[in-house]
Amino acid sequence: MQGMTKRELQVTDLNEIREILDTAKVLHLGLAVDNEPYVVPLNYGYTMEDGKLTLYLHGANQGKKLDMIRANPNVFFELDCGRMPFEGKVPCQYGMVYSSVMGRGTARIVEDVEEKMQAMTILMKTQTGKDFSFNERLVSIVAVIRIDVSEYTAKHRPLPEKLR
Ligand SMILES: Cc1cc2nc3c(=O)[nH]c(=O)nc-3n(C[C@H](O)[C@H](O)[C@H](O)COP(=O)(O)OP(=O)(O)OC[C@H]3O[C@@H](n4cnc5c(N)ncnc54)[C@H](O)[C@@H]3O)c2cc1C
Repeated sequence: MQGMTKRELQVTDLNEIREILDTAKVLHLGLAVDNEPYVVPLNYGYTMEDGKLTLYLHGANQGKKLDMIRANPNVFFELDCGRMPFEGKVPCQYGMVYSSVMGRGTARIVEDVEEKMQAMTILMKTQTGKDFSFNERLVSIVAVIRIDVSEYTAKHRPLPEKLR
């Protein structure tokens, strides 16, 4: 992978990637229309089937992110967990332990009611670990966004050896 330094480790184990996805709870969604970038933090749900990652987001039925997705469905995302700052003797030895996932995909506003209900169940499972079911009325008041992730990478920055 381009840009990966020695102190950061690429994570390829799917179980470790799932653990990051289960823990982070918030993702930063990057959008761009007509050369205007926009990043918005959101809670998410996910499925990972045969290494294929799908993300689900929800929110109000109107707003900037929905307008931007309609104009350009190509999106980028970042999520992370396990943040722990560590100290050193000099500024460049300070740093932060973390695990993160970043990737790109295509966003779609879900209109089908059955798919919306399923997406909200997935989202609540990721967020709470609990199984919730939804009816037509409940999902009618929210917009649901599905992101089919085309590529992603995961990284872990461990505590430097001399601090362990
Ligand atoms: C940890 C976290 C989790 C969140 N989870 C969700 C979620 O699951 N679903 C959801 O719909 N929203 C969530 N939000 C709120 C979300 O970030 C947006 O504020 C909201 O979704 C509206 O986005 P929009 O693009 O429709 O903005 P609009 O309502 O159209 O807002 C327009 C303008 O308001 C400003 N703005 C919008 N959002 C923010 C923000 N977060 N901080 C500062 N300025 C802002 C921007 O300047 C933007 O141009 C979360 C926020 C945080 C911090």
